Amino acid sequence: IKKIAVLTSGGDSPGMNAAIRSVVRTCAYLEIECVAIYRGYQGMIEGDFKPMNARSVNNIINKGGTILKSARCLEFRTPEGRKKAHDQLVKAGVDAFVVIGGNGSFTGAMIFNNEFDFPVMGIPGTIDNDIIGTSYTIGFDTAINTVVEVIDKIRDTASSHNRLFFIEVMGRDVGHIALNAGVGAGAEEILIPEQNLGLERLLDSLKRSKKSGKSSSIVIVAEGDKIGKNVFELKDYVEEHLPIYDVRVSVLGHMQRGGNPTCFDRVLASRMGVKAVEALLEGKTNYMVGIRDNDLILTPISEAIKGHTPVDEELIRVSDIMTT
Ligand code: ATP
Repeated sequence: IKKIAVLTSGGDSPGMNAAIRSVVRTCAYLEIECVAIYRGYQGMIEGDFKPMNARSVNNIINKGGTILKSARCLEFRTPEGRKKAHDQLVKAGVDAFVVIGGNGSFTGAMIFNNEFDFPVMGIPGTIDNDIIGTSYTIGFDTAINTVVEVIDKIRDTASSHNRLFFIEVMGRDVGHIALNAGVGAGAEEILIPEQNLGLERLLDSLKRSKKSGKSSSIVIVAEGDKIGKNVFELKDYVEEHLPIYDVRVSVLGHMQRGGNPTCFDRVLASRMGVKAVEALLEGKTNYMVGIRDNDLILTPISEAIKGHTPVDEELIRVSDIMTT
């Protein structure tokens, strides 16, 4: 392998730039060529490439988003689209690519690898932390820190007015962001998809909380939770059944995906970038880099895309104890 391409694909996450920087610098260190592909698989199909050297990635480790842009690309889902992408890579003399993204991006890479026997390596970049084969994805730590900071602020106004807040956070089908940020910010209740406590239990808990003298309440609601009502419906339901509360809703939205990456995410991204390039040079292909017990590991992409990592049972227990 003499030339490696790097791209970001799917939803962006803080720390992707640190991962790009790491891939580029590792190539420079090992004296192999590196090219960046802009706009994910769309740019691969269109040949939107740019040669990179160690200096091309100055001053990006601290920036959120991705300097390479990201895109969702329908054409890459078709054999014709992937053929065009392959032609572009061959034309540019690229021998392998590293894709920083989520499950969809990895699925595309795996299919591409199977079709053309082209070496690929994945690096998990998503705030949702839902990818099998790694305890942490790049961006998750930044997102939970952002969420905690915001909840702290909302709590200031909640306690000044004796209000109850429902705060919806991201996380797709899993509750990692909700559970971790909820425990970290001392939420009174955390509603996650992995555990449907039901509406009755929520009302009971809120009643108890009020009785015990709490002046405000924060309920974190994961976007994928299974209670059967969205945050606005929850507000109406609680106001109707528990008129003692003055309820407000806050949907945090895309601010959770932005911002400067935390040190943890920068270090994780730097480590994963090195591992991805080194693994390709060792002849490994079709893997995703992950971290477990602070060791970097490789998981076949076919395994990594099989589903979502559920939240930690022990943390659910801790959360139950903390919310009494
Ligand atoms: P995130 O979930 O964090 O947003 P992702 O990588 O899962 O990231 P997707 O939009 O699912 O995001 O996938 C990114 C791109 O990967 C798609 O736009 C498409 O080009 C490609 N892709 C996804 N699934 C497939 C597939 N089954 N076959 C080929 N390409 C795919």
